[in-house]
Amino acid sequence: MVPFVLNSDAYGLVGYAYLLAAVLFIVGLKMLSTIKSAPKGNIVSALGMVLAAGATLLLVNLHAEPGQDFTASLLWVFVAAGIGTAAGLGLGLSVQMTGMPQMVALLNGFGGIASLLIACADYLRQTDPTLIESHILTAAGLAVLIGGVTFTGSLVAFSKLQGIVTGSPILFPMQKIVNALMLLACVVMVGMLVANPKQEALLGFVVVLALVLGVLLVIPIGGADMPVVISLLNSYSGLAAAMAGFVLSNMALIITGALVGASGIILTQIMCKAMNRSLANVLFGGVGAAPTGKATSGPAKGIVREFSLEDAAIVLEAARQVVVVPGYGMAVAQAQHSVKELADVLEARGITVKYAIHPVAGRMPGHMNVLLAEASVPYEQLCDLDAINPQFDQTDVALVIGANDVTNPAARHAKDSPIYGMPILDVDKARTVFVVKRSLNPGFAGVDNELYYAPNCGMLFGDAKKVVNGLTNELKDSG
Ligand code: NDP
Repeated sequence: MVPFVLNSDAYGLVGYAYLLAAVLFIVGLKMLSTIKSAPKGNIVSALGMVLAAGATLLLVNLHAEPGQDFTASLLWVFVAAGIGTAAGLGLGLSVQMTGMPQMVALLNGFGGIASLLIACADYLRQTDPTLIESHILTAAGLAVLIGGVTFTGSLVAFSKLQGIVTGSPILFPMQKIVNALMLLACVVMVGMLVANPKQEALLGFVVVLALVLGVLLVIPIGGADMPVVISLLNSYSGLAAAMAGFVLSNMALIITGALVGASGIILTQIMCKAMNRSLANVLFGGVGAAPTGKATSGPAKGIVREFSLEDAAIVLEAARQVVVVPGYGMAVAQAQHSVKELADVLEARGITVKYAIHPVAGRMPGHMNVLLAEASVPYEQLCDLDAINPQFDQTDVALVIGANDVTNPAARHAKDSPIYGMPILDVDKARTVFVVKRSLNPGFAGVDNELYYAPNCGMLFGDAKKVVNGLTNELKDSG
């Protein structure tokens, strides 16, 4: 078969295509920053990716030697792309909103292992590794190191979120020293490989150490700090891809990797701020661990008051301002549309309704914003933590729907609590707090919630959707 080979002018074409793809990525990312433009932002970024991938296929042909036929290789590329597309479509269509964090963790991991494999393959295909330039070899070593850590770290994060392994921190003696030594050993071995490129065993050692390091770095992180880990692993996957881009001398991969790396780090910073922790504290502090190494989940003392729907509706009717506090339970129950309907009924009675959004509520950054936007809750009614907290003491009812950790007053004072120091939504300062959940069971961090024993707190036990629908019906019936 005659190979499809372009003339050298096509190199310019590929360059322009990469430039346009980079612009589309940046514009797409910018559009992701507001809920309204986010769906279009996704499409714009995806177009950029299609363009970059198409241009790369042209590039493969440009690299063909006269007489060389890449047709068979291209066929494999299309087969792989077909399988990947089918798997992506299947996963994307079937995943529940509550399973998104796990999926994101897996995708980060796949990105990491892809970069590791690219770097290894590029090294191994060279007949004479001494011809590989030092900076390329350095990038390959870093792609293997970061990619390996990202892969196994993401699998551990996935397993923690999925409940396959315990969400509590797993600690062992001298953990930080062991991790630091392994990291140092990897860096030294990458340096030795650059000095002596023929020692391919070194790359093998880096692969193994990086994979083990990924596990060791993520198992001590638990409690409520998984959001930070996920965004950090996301950033790592971008950095690994950027390194793989240097290995392949592929501009598009360098740019996309750098964008993912940078946006992941920004998100990590936002998450750290939300948890009121420094990144070093999350990574090396065994955060989420009580001093004993166990999450404190002993019951808080006091009386729990259960309210009937009827009584709760009477209190709601008399309110002037209601602040809805959604959490993971609202996502599980898919109660967002019911919540919007309840808010409409309250507003029709002249009651002001606002929504308090905690940055780590749910199981992924922006989880509550996405759900409420899906239910057409006006964006202006969503208030972030800093904006809403000063308003709780003028709020008649704080209606907590499936949120737990983000409302736990223990975060303010209980130094032995895994969530100590995390800024919370001050719902306990409202005149009345209603909490909608199925039981007194703890949330993600595994700690009992003091709020439920507060004198101004009433529990509405049950599935969030059923309870909220029940409240709406009570309000409708009463007039
Ligand atoms: P929590 O996990 O603290 O609590 C959720 C509550 O929802 C549970 O206590 C549960 O109680 C209740 N619930 C579950 N199903 C239902 C249902 N069908 N109807 C009613 N209630 C239900 O959630 P928060 O949103 O308050 O806090 C998020 C936690 O997750 C934080 O600790 C955060 O750090 C962590 N996290 C956040 C991530 C992010 O990026 N946002 C990522 C990973 C972790 P019950 O069983 O009694 O019904």
